[in-house]
Formats: sequence, C-alpha cells, structure tokens
Amino acid sequence: MAYRGRIAPTPTGLLHLGHARTFALAAKRCRENAGTLVFRIEDIDTLRCKKEFAVAAMEDLKKLGISWDEGPDVGGKFAPYVQSDNMPYFWGIWEKLKNAGIIYPCRRSRKDVAAAVRAPHAEDEAAEPIFPASWRPPAGTGRDFSAPGDYNWRFRVPDGETITFFDEIQGKQTFVAGKDFGDFVVWRRDGVPAYELAVVADDIRMKISEVVRGADLLKSTARQILLYRALGAIPPRWAHAPLVLDENGKRLAKRSSALSLRTLLENKSFSLW
Ligand code: GLU
Repeated sequence: MAYRGRIAPTPTGLLHLGHARTFALAAKRCRENAGTLVFRIEDIDTLRCKKEFAVAAMEDLKKLGISWDEGPDVGGKFAPYVQSDNMPYFWGIWEKLKNAGIIYPCRRSRKDVAAAVRAPHAEDEAAEPIFPASWRPPAGTGRDFSAPGDYNWRFRVPDGETITFFDEIQGKQTFVAGKDFGDFVVWRRDGVPAYELAVVADDIRMKISEVVRGADLLKSTARQILLYRALGAIPPRWAHAPLVLDENGKRLAKRSSALSLRTLLENKSFSLW
C-alpha cells in the first residue's frame, strides 16, 4: 500500500516546539517512504478554533521547511484540507454507527462523569474519569433517531476486551476497554463530531496509512481502533512521538507561549535539527 501520512493541527493556539518535532517526524517518515503528505486543519470544534491560528500554523510549517503534497488547488498551490468543510460526510458516519447500534444518545456531560467517579479516584487526580457502565441505556437505544439532535452520542465499549497495538516508536501497547477508558463521546450535543470520530473518519477518507502524532494520544488510539472496527476499516500504522517537556517536566500546552514556535522561529539561531 502506498504510504500516506498527515499533519493535522487543531487551530486553538500557536504551535509549540512539541508540534514542530512531531510534524517534522511525520514529514521525515513520509519522505523516507516516498509517500504523500496531507495537511489537514482540524477545526471541527468551531467555537474553540480560530482561522488566525490555522494561518499561523501554515506560516510556521513553511518556515520549518515542511510542505505537503495534496489539497484543493488554489492558484497552483495546495490549500489545506479543512475538516469543517465536510459535515455531510460526518453525518453519514454517525448514521452508520447509529444503525449498527454501537453508539447511543446520552445526556451526561463530562462534568457528570467526573463528579460520579471523583471519590474512588481521589488519590489519583490524573486518572481519567471512566463513564460508569451502569449509566448505559439498554442495547438498541437511539436506533430510531434520524438525526443526532442535541445529545452527546457515546460509543459502547466492549468491557474487558484488551486492545493491543504495535507502535512504531513506543512498541507494544495494551489497554483494556471499560478499565482504562469507558464509553466515549463520538458526537457532541452542539452538533459536531467529537475528536475521536472526526479524526478516524478523516484518516479513513484520506486513506492515511501511518499516523504520526504525540504520545499523549496513545490511549485515544485504543478507542480509535474500536471505531475502525465498527466502521469496517483497517487501522493505519501508528507512530507516537515522545512529548516535549518544559523545564518543570510538564508537557507543553498551546497556552504556554514561552516555547511557541513563533517565538522560537523569531530567534534566528533556532534550529530544529
Ligand atoms: N488535531 C489533533 C491535535 O492537534 C491531533 C490529531 C491526531 O493527530 O490524531 O492535537
């Protein structure tokens, strides 16, 4: 199969050094495999995303010497693919999962879930709250819906199933559904697909053969493998890059501007290599 890679920033802030390293790695692996690199703006969360950050990401990539090989033709150049341009495609994916009875409408918010499980996890604040299986509606709930409406839709995970995958950088990974993560949101009550669904749907549509991204998404990969299966698609290869940490050992966030790529690129002596 031909190698197809992608760079897929979410434009909610300026890119930081961690993005630069991950994107440079994605470009390198793609070039080494004589592949095609796709650039996709993941702006499906329209409330949090800003066009100015998408533009800034493109400018920063250019300065880093990273280019992509495909996209809508704009004056002889490739424009990026823009996730929010394809809502009808995502509605179709929602419908497929809904008809398969694998997702259900849910009124519980992230806050509800956090509040319900706070006590048992009090000693481990970093632990991700797991949606209680007892909150699941009976099988088949939601099958008669003709549109998502103002509900969150959750994926019914196969409790106790071990999801194993090989990561090209991190090696073998193992997660247990229902223990490491619970029923996760695939469609949001504000009418857009959640990250897990949008990214899988787009990677399938764009025939991505290897996903290169940050190691903070390793657990998401286990969820996404379940989505590939539910959609009857073959998952890509995975390569999760180690996270870049700041001087306090914390992973970089878009809001910590000190190591924004913009600032670093303005410093003439900066080099990624
Ligand atoms: N858009 C996501 C982000 O910027 C990355 C998605 C992915 O690579 O799967 O965090």
